[in-house]
Amino acid sequence: MTTYVEKLYDGYGQSYDIEEVLFEQQTDSWHLIIFRNKMFGTVMALDGIIQTTERDEFVYHEMLTHVPLFAHGKAKRVLIIGGGDGGILREVCKHPEVEHVTQVEIDQAVIDMCKEYLPNHSAGAFDDPRANIVIADGIEYVSNTDEKFDVIISDCTDPVGPGEVLFSSKFYENCKRCLNDGGIFVAQNGVAFMQIDEVVTTRRRLGPYFTDQTFYGAPVPTYIGGLMTLAWGGDDEAQRQVPVEELRERFEASGIKTRYYNPEVHYGSFALPQYVLDALKDA
Ligand code: SAM
Repeated sequence: MTTYVEKLYDGYGQSYDIEEVLFEQQTDSWHLIIFRNKMFGTVMALDGIIQTTERDEFVYHEMLTHVPLFAHGKAKRVLIIGGGDGGILREVCKHPEVEHVTQVEIDQAVIDMCKEYLPNHSAGAFDDPRANIVIADGIEYVSNTDEKFDVIISDCTDPVGPGEVLFSSKFYENCKRCLNDGGIFVAQNGVAFMQIDEVVTTRRRLGPYFTDQTFYGAPVPTYIGGLMTLAWGGDDEAQRQVPVEELRERFEASGIKTRYYNPEVHYGSFALPQYVLDALKDA
């Protein structure tokens, strides 16, 4: 039995027994592999970093989508950067108030392979009439578009290779430019216990564009090292502090069924560990 080893950290990593390789390719952007594992089902990795697995993807996709959308409460236009597996698009399309979703993904091959080998991630969302899929570099799109959005979700790879630009000040400045008044920006921001520098860097780069810049968290088992930190950018603290009772009303009115997200988890997810707060003090 061959194993897939993720060595994201010096001297520490995780390994998956590969029961079967479903797809492997060197694309324009990177090395893409999709394989089956007994514990996590179908797993996708890009350039040696686990991107998503069948078994635990719901935690990440629900939290990166429903927290900003239920906090906003009346988002009509959503922009997704990255997210080639379709999990974010699936969750966004569950919101009846959303009228239009643009998804900007740099690599068509990721979409094609995930449709075929991880079909439950997108679950048909790529065919939703509200969805507009653009194959482009996310930073080019936000720098050049005249479109405006209520929520922007950056579901990109780690800040290495093609994903690096999506953690730059230029990207954040242009995302802010593309937001309507009252708009919210969220992004995957690494595992704070292992990548605390990414959190501090994001505070320094994203903070200047939003008066309410903070983070929230969700434990995604295959993003090893503890709490997956999600970056938040807004200009109205009240959006981040919507009372649980109000969140409950919005959640129940939506009719959306979830497996991780609920209003109490939403509200509590903004409570950050002391070591994260301490690191942000120096940012
Ligand atoms: N959930 C994963 C995580 O947290 O690491 C990310 C999953 S998703 C597969 C990451 C997506 O970002 C990939 O589909 C990749 O093609 C896309 N991506 C990376 N850099 C990009 C860029 N500059 N513009 C648009 N999409 C990009």
